[in-house]
Amino acid sequence: MKKRVKVIKVVVCLLLLATFLGVSSYAAIEVKKYAVHDRERKNPPVITPAEQFGQPPSDAIVLFDGTDLSEWASDRSDVEAKWNIIENKYMEVPTKAGGIHTKKEFGNCQLHIEWRTPTGLDPKITDQKRSNSGVSFMDRYEVQVLDSYTNDNYKTNRTYADGQAAAIYGQNPPMVNACRKAGEWQNYDISFLRPLFDEEGKCIRKARITVIHNGVVVHNNLEIEGTTSHKRKARYGSPHERGRIRLQDHGNPMCFRNIWIRELPEQPYLIQD
Ligand code: MG
Repeated sequence: MKKRVKVIKVVVCLLLLATFLGVSSYAAIEVKKYAVHDRERKNPPVITPAEQFGQPPSDAIVLFDGTDLSEWASDRSDVEAKWNIIENKYMEVPTKAGGIHTKKEFGNCQLHIEWRTPTGLDPKITDQKRSNSGVSFMDRYEVQVLDSYTNDNYKTNRTYADGQAAAIYGQNPPMVNACRKAGEWQNYDISFLRPLFDEEGKCIRKARITVIHNGVVVHNNLEIEGTTSHKRKARYGSPHERGRIRLQDHGNPMCFRNIWIRELPEQPYLIQD
């Protein structure tokens, strides 16, 4: 009898250990309920907003202020990023330099980035060849960067809708095309909510994204269908809690400046009890 009790205890311990080890990011998130106007509810942290719109607030991590690439590494070999810094103001992709990614990893976040496509391109260079780049979250989810400016309703510069600027690549076109002309600086202000996975690795809440392009909302809390890729239907692969921000080199001399990020807390109201 004693032996049986001992076996049961061991089994219970093993089960508890397995449960502990298997705790997913989902299970670890506390969903607390409050009464209306509950005075026990904590007030949010205080931060100082920037004096000028587009500049980093006090709790932002500055990823690029124009002067150095110390927050970035090359996609090629995890060495220093080799994009050129011009006039201590912006960075430019040299020919065949390869993409770059942040050294730090992020989950839920707000990202501000400014980008510029080159002028003087041959009008015959169109479609995906016209100043292609991209901003990816968690190494997986790309917001397209492209010269999608058109003043003739896409007659002379058109690509597939889910691949134009501000599209969630291969999934959703932006609601409107808010592109500026080549040579003009453009902004993305993006709020990203990471996906959640259960203990079996199944995605139980898709990633969500809100994209503001040059001050215009072009995606509003949109569900991302999975990893973005070329000519492949999106799906969620292995579970991930954090990942790098990536800037794509697609062989075009793109420029970027003023990049900062804020890490965001979980949004409990989007998690089922
Ligand atoms: Mg791209």
